[in-house]
Amino acid sequence: MLFESVKIGPVTAPNRFYAVPHATGHGWSQPDGAIALRAMKAEGGWGVVASQMTEIAADSDLASHPMDRIWDERDITAHAKQVEAIKAHGSLAAIELAHGGMRARNYTTGLPVRGPSHLPILRPEVPIQASEMSLADIAEFRHAHKGAARRAIEAGFDILYVYAAHDLSLLSHFLSRRTNQRSDAYGGALKNRMRLLREVLEDTLEVAAGRQAVALRFSVAEPGQRLGLSHKDEGREVVEILAELPDLWDVNISGWSQDSATSRFSEEGFQLEFTDFVKTVTSKPVVGVGRFTSADFMVSLVTQGRLDLIGCARPSIADPFLPSKIKQGHLDEIRECIGCNICVSMDGYGVPLRCTQNPTIGEEWRRGWHPESVPAATDVKNYLIVGAGPAGLECARTLLMTGHKVTLADAAEQAGGRVSRESALPGLQSWVRVRDYRLQMIRQHNNAELYLSSRLTLEDLVEFDADSTVIATGSSWRDDGVGSTRFQPVDLGSRAVITPDNIMSGTALPDDSIHCVVYDDDHFYMASVIAEKLVALGHRVTYVTPLASVSSWTDFTLEQGRIIDRFNSLGIVIEVNAGLGDGGEFNSTLTGKTIPLDYETLVLVGARLPDDKLYHQAAVEKKLSSVFRIGDCLSPGTIQAAVLAGHTHARQSGSNFTKPLSFRRQGIYCSE
Ligand code: ADP
Ligand code: SF4
Repeated sequence: MLFESVKIGPVTAPNRFYAVPHATGHGWSQPDGAIALRAMKAEGGWGVVASQMTEIAADSDLASHPMDRIWDERDITAHAKQVEAIKAHGSLAAIELAHGGMRARNYTTGLPVRGPSHLPILRPEVPIQASEMSLADIAEFRHAHKGAARRAIEAGFDILYVYAAHDLSLLSHFLSRRTNQRSDAYGGALKNRMRLLREVLEDTLEVAAGRQAVALRFSVAEPGQRLGLSHKDEGREVVEILAELPDLWDVNISGWSQDSATSRFSEEGFQLEFTDFVKTVTSKPVVGVGRFTSADFMVSLVTQGRLDLIGCARPSIADPFLPSKIKQGHLDEIRECIGCNICVSMDGYGVPLRCTQNPTIGEEWRRGWHPESVPAATDVKNYLIVGAGPAGLECARTLLMTGHKVTLADAAEQAGGRVSRESALPGLQSWVRVRDYRLQMIRQHNNAELYLSSRLTLEDLVEFDADSTVIATGSSWRDDGVGSTRFQPVDLGSRAVITPDNIMSGTALPDDSIHCVVYDDDHFYMASVIAEKLVALGHRVTYVTPLASVSSWTDFTLEQGRIIDRFNSLGIVIEVNAGLGDGGEFNSTLTGKTIPLDYETLVLVGARLPDDKLYHQAAVEKKLSSVFRIGDCLSPGTIQAAVLAGHTHARQSGSNFTKPLSFRRQGIYCSE
């Protein structure tokens, strides 16, 4: 059923797998990377492959977010190359034509930012206002959108998007009561606020003239947004009124943090409760998203008439070959997205995306990496890998694919290293997929041996005498107060101090309820999940951080607001701008004054130290040849970084180990 073709207006998708628009971080300045990434999805069997948000005109300049552009004729060449690469695999190519409206900043172009009303733009920290569009401006915008649609057709796209989603589009800003305060024909009642959306849809259909399909990407609800659309009122009415106008409905929820909710805060299919109604009010095909990775679930969505096309962004990043694996019945080989949003975080930095599960994403053109194959080894070697965490497992999996023999040993009773430990923390269960996928793949090889409960020593390494030894022994949390804002250890005297390692090993705390301070000088997820865990164990918790915001870096993974909500619902007290002082006291980072805080146990979530003793014994003291360290053992970081390190090391096998693997750079040259 998932491989039935679906008619979308004048074009036909070869199957129901739809890779919806998502940011790749390549943007208009690195088109080759984006082209190769999307071509890989087409090769992996996605029936439709969409571009990311593509700015239609220069007054929608979203730099430094690396969007695509179709501002003028010069942009057509790169898009045409992309279309060709997608169609070469029999997939349809879609383009998300977009105007950022009150999300644009126009820093590059210096043009005024456009919006329905004179209001600050939708980034409160940025000192720019949007200028209320006159009727002439509106006509100009419609003209620009038509021009972009014509260029997209010239590039060869099959599906043209009209984008009114995620609070990232001028059309959403006209639709919303929050941002549209006009009193003319484009403001006031919903009918008026919808006028521009309808006009642009009609314009695009006119330009397409029955040759290309026109899709409407629309957020039916804006949960948590004051004056936002809801699927129970205006969100639904928009779909009812425009029901038969577009050739395809691509529906989701807004803003981006709602649409790309992490697994910590949402289940597979979490958007269906909002989008389910769409199929009941239109006869046009509907695509929806919700971090779908289960084939059975996908089938049930179609049989129950909830969706026609299975939309995926993150699952298609984690496994570009998800459709072909389902087709071949290789369900256990699917690299399921873990819902961690490392991919999303890279957009905030304006760089090509990374993925915890798929180390090859973004590297298709740059390093020529394919997610499902690696070049065969010319010289088969005997590898010993010490440590079966994400780095060791990924290194083993990839080496085995190349044909090497691998012995993998871990001191723990089960493989997985930190993902086994961390996935037992509140909300992180899906992260265990990092381990399970790799173990599953490793087990398919006869030249693999896995030894658990096996803590290796230097003598073991010498005795084993591998051709190459990879040390992936991980890292440990520090208990001396060193963290991102403090590089000198603290004298903590007789205070009861523990770390996440103690809590994850379950040995640290008394059964009776105590007051714990969780001190976050790491600023990603760990302190917040530890705080949740302590509450679940019955303790009273105060979360303290020297920065001005809670779990600061989770802003990049779109989780920060939800973490604060969770803290509030669990009664976790929040103390920001409070740094750990030299004597273990807490001082305001603003005034320097000591903050009185009585607690029984201090949980330090700061820096980590590599567990690299074995490496130093083997490589430095004993000078064994061909010994390497990877992952957290070399440089404590994210799980994604450990997986990438394991993969990169294995890809380099047989070549020069000492140099970092070189990669191609997109050519940007001076004009003559
Ligand atoms: P990474 O993220 O770099 O993969 P992890 O901390 O997740 O690191 O995994 C490291 C693994 O190494 C852990 O499972 C740990 O049990 C194992 N380990 C550490 N020292 C040894 C050793 N001497 N012998 C075998 N396994 C070890
Ligand atoms: Fe999924 Fe995480 Fe990969 Fe993003 S980075 S696709 S959320 S596994």
